Amino acid sequence: QARRLEGVDKNIWVEFVKLATTHATVNLGQGFPDFPPPDFLREAFVRAVSGENHMLHQYTRAFGHPPLVKILAQFFGKLLGQELDPLTNVMVTVGAYQALFCCFQALVDEGDEVIIIEPFFDCYEPMVKMAGGTPMFIPLRPKAPKAGQLMSSADWQLDPAELASKFSKRTKAVVLNSPNNPLGKVFSRGELELIADLCVKHDALCISDEVYEWLVYDGKEHVRIASLPGMWDRTVSIGSAGKTFSATGWKVGWTVGPTRLLQHLRTVHQNSVYHCATAAQEAVAQGFQRELERLGQADSYFAHLARELQGKRDRLVQSLDAAGMKPIVPEGTYFLVADISAFASDVPNTTGSDEPYDSRFAKWMVKNKEDATLKAANDILQKWK
Ligand code: PMP
Ligand code: GLN
Repeated sequence: QARRLEGVDKNIWVEFVKLATTHATVNLGQGFPDFPPPDFLREAFVRAVSGENHMLHQYTRAFGHPPLVKILAQFFGKLLGQELDPLTNVMVTVGAYQALFCCFQALVDEGDEVIIIEPFFDCYEPMVKMAGGTPMFIPLRPKAPKAGQLMSSADWQLDPAELASKFSKRTKAVVLNSPNNPLGKVFSRGELELIADLCVKHDALCISDEVYEWLVYDGKEHVRIASLPGMWDRTVSIGSAGKTFSATGWKVGWTVGPTRLLQHLRTVHQNSVYHCATAAQEAVAQGFQRELERLGQADSYFAHLARELQGKRDRLVQSLDAAGMKPIVPEGTYFLVADISAFASDVPNTTGSDEPYDSRFAKWMVKNKEDATLKAANDILQKWK
C-alpha cells in the first residue's frame, strides 16, 4: 500500500450505502433526488445516444466536449461578469469529485496548509492529505436563535478573528462550500468578503465548491466568490450537472477559473481520466442551452427545482420538529442537520464503543425503521432526498 493511502481508507458513503442496502430502508447518507431529471434533459440524452451523430459514441475533446465547454463559458461568463474562453477557462470532469481531486493534486504541495470550514463534505480532508497537504479546520459556530424560533443555518457563522488566525505563509488555499453540505448554509456577501479579503492579503487560492448553487431557498442570493474583487484570478469554481439537473448518476462536473490555475488541473486530468463520457456531456450542453434562454425566469428548471425542494424542506422541518428533534432550517441544499440530543436514552451505548453519538444514532435510526415516533420522519426523508 502506498504511504499516501495511510489514514484515508475509511469512507462514510461506503459504510452508509451498505447499511441502507442491508436494511432496505432509508439511505440516510447520500443526498440525491428520488425524482427523474427534467424531460428536456432526458430527451437530449436519448437523442445523443440514438440519433444520427454516431460520433457521440466516441471520444471527444479531453478537457470537455466542445458544445459543453462553449455553453458553460457563456453561462458562467454571464454570471461572473467575466469574458470566458471555453478552451482555457473551463474544464469538464467526472462529477465535482474529480474536479476537487484535480484541484488538490494540481495546486497543493507537501507541507502546504489548506483551510477547511467545518462542518464539511467529507472528501476535502482525505484529498488534501493525499496531495501531501495539511488540513486546517475552522468551525462555523452557532449563535442562539431568536426566542421561540427554530435555528437557521444562517445562525452558524465564522468568528472573523479565529478565521484570520488560521492564515499564515503556509496557507495555499481555502475550501469554500456554499451552499454548504451538510448545514445548508448559504454564505452571505459579507461573509464571503471576509474570506476573500484574507485570501487576497495572504495570497491564498480559493477552491469554491458550488455544486448546490441552484438549491437556494427563501429568495436568498447565491453569491459567487470568484465575482468578488481580487478573487477571479485565485479561484477555481466547481459545479455538478448531477445537482444542477437532478442527474447524479451521470457524473458530469466542471471547473471554471483562470488559465494560470486551470492549466495545472488539465495536467492532472490528462494524466488520469483523460476525458469524460461524450453523450452525457452533449445532453448537459443542451440542458444549459435551454436554461440560458430562461435564466432568471419563472419557467427555468433551476427556479422550479428550488421551489419544489423548498416545500419539501418545510415538510421535513415540521415533521422532525414534531418527532422531537430540533431541526436547523437549511437555507439551501438537499440536507438538514438536526439536534438529536433528546433521543440519547433511546440509543444506549451498550458496547461502550468510542463511536460518536451522532454516528450511532444514524445507524440506530436506519435499523429501527418500524419505530413509531420516527416513521413519519423516515417517510418524508425518503420523499425529500
Ligand atoms: N461537493 C459536494 C459538497 C457534494 O455534496 C457532492 C456530492 N454529494 C460533490 C461535491 C460531488 O459531486 P458529484 O456527484 O458531481 O461528483
Ligand atoms: N451526494 C453525496 C452527498 O450526499 C454523496 C456523495 C457520495 O456518493 N460519495 O453528500
